[in-house]
Amino acid sequence: MLTDALCHLGARLSHLLPLRLLKRQAFLAAPVHQMREKIRLRFQRPARDASSMVQFTNSTRRTLLALAGGVAAALVLASRSAASAKPSKPKRILVVTLTKGFHHDSIRVAQNTLRQLAEKQDWEMDLADTDSELSERITPEGLKPIDLIIFANTTGELPIADQNKKIFMEWVRAGHGFVGMHAATDTLYQWDAYGKMIGGYFDSHPWFQKVRLRIEDPNFPGMRPFAEDPEIEDEIYQFRNWSRNDKHVILSIDNTSIDTSKGKREDRDYAVAWARMEGDGRVFYTSLGHRQQVWNDPRFQEHILGGIRWAMGLATRG
Ligand SMILES: [Zn+2]
Repeated sequence: MLTDALCHLGARLSHLLPLRLLKRQAFLAAPVHQMREKIRLRFQRPARDASSMVQFTNSTRRTLLALAGGVAAALVLASRSAASAKPSKPKRILVVTLTKGFHHDSIRVAQNTLRQLAEKQDWEMDLADTDSELSERITPEGLKPIDLIIFANTTGELPIADQNKKIFMEWVRAGHGFVGMHAATDTLYQWDAYGKMIGGYFDSHPWFQKVRLRIEDPNFPGMRPFAEDPEIEDEIYQFRNWSRNDKHVILSIDNTSIDTSKGKREDRDYAVAWARMEGDGRVFYTSLGHRQQVWNDPRFQEHILGGIRWAMGLATRG
């Protein structure tokens, strides 16, 4: 009852509150079952139980009840704010789809898929699809608000000045996330550090067919749908400048589902998705994503969401 009364007083002050705080109040008031996922993502640890947010002793209650409404409400709001976990800013991702080589017709679908995934997770998403959009973003100021960069079907030598390449790599190594999808390994061949960071370069696509995926790490975020249904039709890459030594392979090709004589690698090791650390930064790559149908496939969507969340530090191996 006391809490109700104080909340009522708090509501009287609501028109004076900044929008950010009002949004937070609405967030706290929403049903728990709807908010569980958002709480986990925004706070990265369980939010305190609402009942623990306002705790008063009897003497505090008497004192508060004696105070004028506006003052009491202000105390309640201050108490709530101090007792609950401080909300972090929404995550912000930058999706780069600029091409200087082959242009996949799945790029529009990729942009839409990533936008929908971001909206569902309550992330903000910026898109860089032109030279100017990219050069504006890959700068110290442009990178500052970004938590993760995705290269989705980028190709060729993207226009990033040498000094900004250095800034980009320092940004990743400082603990940010980078995700490459499909042709992201067919990108920036003249920038060695990029090739090392993403984990290898595209070296032709010997197979365009239905393949069976081998789930190398079923505990990596987003692996469950492929573990249950591992066949997928897509353009399948082989890589050069690639080795297992500096990465954690998550998915590879079940070689019984392909004609390995079409491939170049002597070790016949055809990885599809992996994760690695670049300094303190987390890098995730998947070579799937050539066909529009793949981008629309819920299994692929859960796969990339798992990788993105891992690269942002929101998910760990289960
Ligand atoms: Zn392709």
